[in-house]
Amino acid sequence: MIHIFYDDKFNIDLGVLNILHPFDGLKFKKILNDIKSNENIEIHSAISPISMDIINEFSNELMQMLIVEKVPLMRALEVPNIPFVSYKYLESKVLIPMKCGVHATLKAAKLALKGEVCWNLSGGYHHASQHSMEGFCIYNDIAITYQELIKSGELSPEDNVLIIDIDAHHGNGNARAFMDNNKIKILDVYNKTIYPLTNSTRERVNFRVPLPANVMPEEYLSSYKKALSELTENYKIAFIVAGTDVLKADKLGGMNLTINDVVERELLTLSRLNELEIPAVFLGAGGYSRESAAAAAASINKLSQM
Ligand SMILES: [Zn+2]
Repeated sequence: MIHIFYDDKFNIDLGVLNILHPFDGLKFKKILNDIKSNENIEIHSAISPISMDIINEFSNELMQMLIVEKVPLMRALEVPNIPFVSYKYLESKVLIPMKCGVHATLKAAKLALKGEVCWNLSGGYHHASQHSMEGFCIYNDIAITYQELIKSGELSPEDNVLIIDIDAHHGNGNARAFMDNNKIKILDVYNKTIYPLTNSTRERVNFRVPLPANVMPEEYLSSYKKALSELTENYKIAFIVAGTDVLKADKLGGMNLTINDVVERELLTLSRLNELEIPAVFLGAGGYSRESAAAAAASINKLSQM
């Protein structure tokens, strides 16, 4: 049984402006269509946007100003600054969906801590931090979730927390967000030749798996398996940044996995976490090809049988 967190509000539809961006903003709906008849999943909807108070509590002073300004937001979203696009438009079309994604990660983590396997179809904004927004990521959902779980007492500052980042890109935002918190351990599998290239954040990763461009699936999966085998059971919860931009069809990730390889990857992940009895929260993260939704759906359908 897997608990799925999905809300129609996740979907980003910019109409004719969709062509400006490689991201398929409607992929969440497509994933849902492929999994909703599965009797081994439970869907949790009605997810409201996380509040600005919570986001501001997380963000530093400069970020508190920048995250409500159109120009820096559009830069972080990697779209050209189009004069007729207003802040209000961005807010309703992009920011609200992302704030719902953040809230879904928090809700999923709360349920995971009670022993359930959870999957937020959105979230996984691993390039954002309290100091920065970039790479289509505005709010760091894992770090905001951590902040809220510490406040509510569901996590203690002494608890070890694991982030498994298997998106094709290095998770510089998570590394930055937890730079000075050694209770958070990061396992990161990434294409070492693409964005982001910052050494300081790469060095923060505890279990580092840098891979060459155009890595083949066998090497990807065997390297990942080896990294998983180094993990111990000392974690209260694991967040998995399960990007599907590792697919060969993806133009940004520079990797060669098939849909079956992605399913195999998620099986390795959940099997290992189950073995170590670490609660798992899967997050959607990157994935910009037409196969992205199908890969996520196939993985969920497979894992729901475990
Ligand atoms: Zn990515």
